[in-house]
Amino acid sequence: MTTTELAGPSATIDGMAAAAAGWIDVLNPATEAVIGHAPDCTAAQLDQAVAAARRAFPAWRATPLDERREALRRIAAALGENLEELKRLLTAEQGKPHADAAAEIGAAAWWIGVVADQPIPESISDAMPGQRAVTRHVPLGVVGGIVPWNFPVLLAIWKIGPALLTGNTLVLKPSPYTPLTTLRLGELLRPLLPPGVLNVISGCDALGPLMSAHPGIDKISFTGSTATGRKVMASAAVNLKRLTLELGGNDAAIVLPDADVDAIAEPLFWAAFANNGQVCVAAKRVYVHEAIYDQVAAALAAVASRMPTGDGADPASRLGPVQNRQQFERVRQLLADTRAAGHTFLTGGHEAEGPGYFVPVTLVDNPPEEARVVQEEAFGPILPLLKYRDVDEAVARANACEYGLGGSVWSSDIAAAAEVAARLETGTVWINSAQGLTPFAAFAGHKQSGLGAENGTEGLLEFTVPQTIYVPA
Ligand code: NAD
Repeated sequence: MTTTELAGPSATIDGMAAAAAGWIDVLNPATEAVIGHAPDCTAAQLDQAVAAARRAFPAWRATPLDERREALRRIAAALGENLEELKRLLTAEQGKPHADAAAEIGAAAWWIGVVADQPIPESISDAMPGQRAVTRHVPLGVVGGIVPWNFPVLLAIWKIGPALLTGNTLVLKPSPYTPLTTLRLGELLRPLLPPGVLNVISGCDALGPLMSAHPGIDKISFTGSTATGRKVMASAAVNLKRLTLELGGNDAAIVLPDADVDAIAEPLFWAAFANNGQVCVAAKRVYVHEAIYDQVAAALAAVASRMPTGDGADPASRLGPVQNRQQFERVRQLLADTRAAGHTFLTGGHEAEGPGYFVPVTLVDNPPEEARVVQEEAFGPILPLLKYRDVDEAVARANACEYGLGGSVWSSDIAAAAEVAARLETGTVWINSAQGLTPFAAFAGHKQSGLGAENGTEGLLEFTVPQTIYVPA
């Protein structure tokens, strides 16, 4: 195949389409058919993107803040105006149902609109007689944004918005499994931003390590697995890059004995299975008090039975396929391991017929704490339900984990739930819900779920460095 035969979104470097030296196939996970090709950018193209971002940086940081705010609003508008096209592309490459793809694009548009209005704090302190110390937050330079495949557009926007608002320029890399929507977004934004301010490159997994080791990149904002996060951290040492790492999780949901089972069944189901379980903050272990365990298990199985899994382009589908072959194999291995260990399934647990990476919603009935399906982040539609006797024991089991991303507590007594929530060693805890995040509040991973934060003032400031100027009073 020659490059000219391959129509598809191109990489954006210095405000222009970059010629592709090679291509990667992009599959629809519902059919396993190749639906497009993305440029396999070379190390030289990464250098070009970094150089373009570096050239654009002085003028962009000097651009009045109000104009940068306007630029973010233009990005929000572009997402809204192109929602239909982006939604179809996102479903085709990611697998999620059209309604969820539209919700992701809509959330991304709203999010960056909120970030556009976010204040960048400045503080003044009395330094010493005759002087004031003015501390402001200045941009770092060139940011590298590395994004996973579960929410390709929203998670890219989490990087584009704060990086550009604070005056940085950006080189953005989507996952090789889901590059098309992000590349298309890069194309749509070309006329809306000065050249070099936002560069979008795609490539195989070799490209990420080149970014985290690149001496011309000042910060990496990375979202992905903990294993990759460790590698990013090691290689970023080369020029002491600033790092924000949003990594994996194995979130516990704790259902207290007074929970209203009918009221929580559906939200608890979606807490675990939204996006087919492929959410960093999905409930991945559910601890249910023994007094209501059977009721909760039956209620969750009933909800599962009325949520059809299928091609995301089919309006009847509430859940799509697992996103890629590698993840599909991982989830199937967990199923096989669970079966081989003799644990029982309340629903699902079998292999689905191909083509497509389909796994039926699977609930595992009270496996032992040390089972792989409890200890490992499944990142797919397989969920263990676990019985506990007293709340201290549930909290201890929830916290006995290398991750510390999120968690949730389910109860009719909000004050009691809040007390339990405060004991979880995680960056976010929800009561009677899960997964909802806002641009107004910090989202951080404790333990090996991350470093730093995204969103909120804390997240915004991660794209800056403090500068204190001592001014004669
Ligand atoms: P991944 O770590 O395999 O890949 C993430 C990104 O890193 C991709 O763009 C990939 O190409 C790139 N990459 C791969 N190897 C690299 C390296 N050595 N150096 C630099 N970049 C590299 O993760 P994934 O499978 O795409 O995503 C699933 C994981 O992401 C799950 O563990 C999930 O919990 C986590 N996640 C976390 C959050 C969060 O905010 N905490 C959000 C979504 C997903």
